[in-house]
Amino acid sequence: MTQHIDSLQPASLKNIQAAEAKLMLQTYERNPLLFVSGQGVHLRDEQGNEYLDLLSGIGVCALGYQHPAITAALQQQSHSLLHTSNLFYHRGTSELALRLTEITGLDRVFFCNSGTEAWEAALKLARAHAGMLRSQGRNIGTRILAMQDSFHGRTMGSVATTHKLKYREPFEPVMPGVSFVPFNDVEALRAAFSTDVCAVAIEVIQGEGGIHPVSPQFLAAARELCDSTGALLLLDEIQSGMGRTGRWCAYQHYGIQPDVTTLAKPLAGGVPIGAMLCTEQASRAFNPGMHGTTFGGNPLACAVAIAVIDEIKQSHLLDHVASLGQYFLTGLRDLQTRFSSIREVRGLGLMIGVELESEALARQMLQGMMERRIVLNRTHETVLRFLPPFILSRRDVDLTLHALGELLELYSTPPSQQPEVMAVETIPGDKIHG
Ligand SMILES: *Cc1c(COP(=O)(O)O)cnc(C)c1O
Repeated sequence: MTQHIDSLQPASLKNIQAAEAKLMLQTYERNPLLFVSGQGVHLRDEQGNEYLDLLSGIGVCALGYQHPAITAALQQQSHSLLHTSNLFYHRGTSELALRLTEITGLDRVFFCNSGTEAWEAALKLARAHAGMLRSQGRNIGTRILAMQDSFHGRTMGSVATTHKLKYREPFEPVMPGVSFVPFNDVEALRAAFSTDVCAVAIEVIQGEGGIHPVSPQFLAAARELCDSTGALLLLDEIQSGMGRTGRWCAYQHYGIQPDVTTLAKPLAGGVPIGAMLCTEQASRAFNPGMHGTTFGGNPLACAVAIAVIDEIKQSHLLDHVASLGQYFLTGLRDLQTRFSSIREVRGLGLMIGVELESEALARQMLQGMMERRIVLNRTHETVLRFLPPFILSRRDVDLTLHALGELLELYSTPPSQQPEVMAVETIPGDKIHG
């Protein structure tokens, strides 16, 4: 039966809200904002208001909006081929694979369409790899050690390694064989590890978990334990990778190589793509037909990802992200010395979290930032999360720090003078999960 949505009605926020409420599965609690265009680091709503975007679509639009390198790649590719299927060759896959193997230090690539698919491929590879080792007479099991407060996506395998009960429980039984280890607790990791384990799964910087970097000791212990049995070290760089921390991969700050890594979010600057990369040795666990996807690595996604990587290189954006991130972090730590309501400032490059003393304050701060037309989000209840486009400027950071300072001043006054904490219903970025 046809649902009638009057197409002559202007596509106003109200109309769209009503149509979505009727037509779409209610999986998202969207913020009441209708963006119609973007340019550089700014978004524009349907009323012409301009917003400074410090979230970039949850770490995706690394080159901002309407970047000429991306529009050129999209235009060019649309004049030749969008899709071929993986039954045939096209020029983009090996060109992109060459760039990705160079920047990650890994040997081989599998392309897919999203973060969770990349992670799913990593989990399947870990199981298949252990099976391969067993067939060679090695003693290795099928268990996967994941971390508390982890986030790896929503498909059945990925969600099984995602810690939050709310994401997992309604779908049980999810993939069996996963145990969660307290993040950065070396003793707990050693205690949980055995020849039963085929993989240790870590986000180098936990994103949704509140911007928590892995400790060097913990990552080194995970590497050493995996080496001792042939288990694979899986490092999820879907949020932290592709230059977000000032290096191509966050693990490069630690001098530790994984067996497998996953990339997605900013890889093609807004065009859906994911990639799982691994060592030559691990790659032998996959034979033709064992894994695949229709869209994965299609000409369009590859062309745009190549353009994104080349632009990051040509414009020296890694250096820019590193120095601007340092500048941003220094500014935030200055704020922390002025306001005790800031518990902690964490991050690397332009992946930054500011932990506040309460959820109520975090909500207020987001509401205040929205009123100042600055888009960010809140994760892990009390943490303000910044994942801005790599092309952000010092001026944008100054503006942000100024707005944060003003709001903290307003909300951090002594309890007696403090304005009543309002239950805020809708805040930009407040209900975005990723
Ligand atoms: C976003 C994210 C994922 C899932 O990616 P999707 O594209 O949403 O499937 C997995 N791992 C990490 C660390 C992420 O941030």
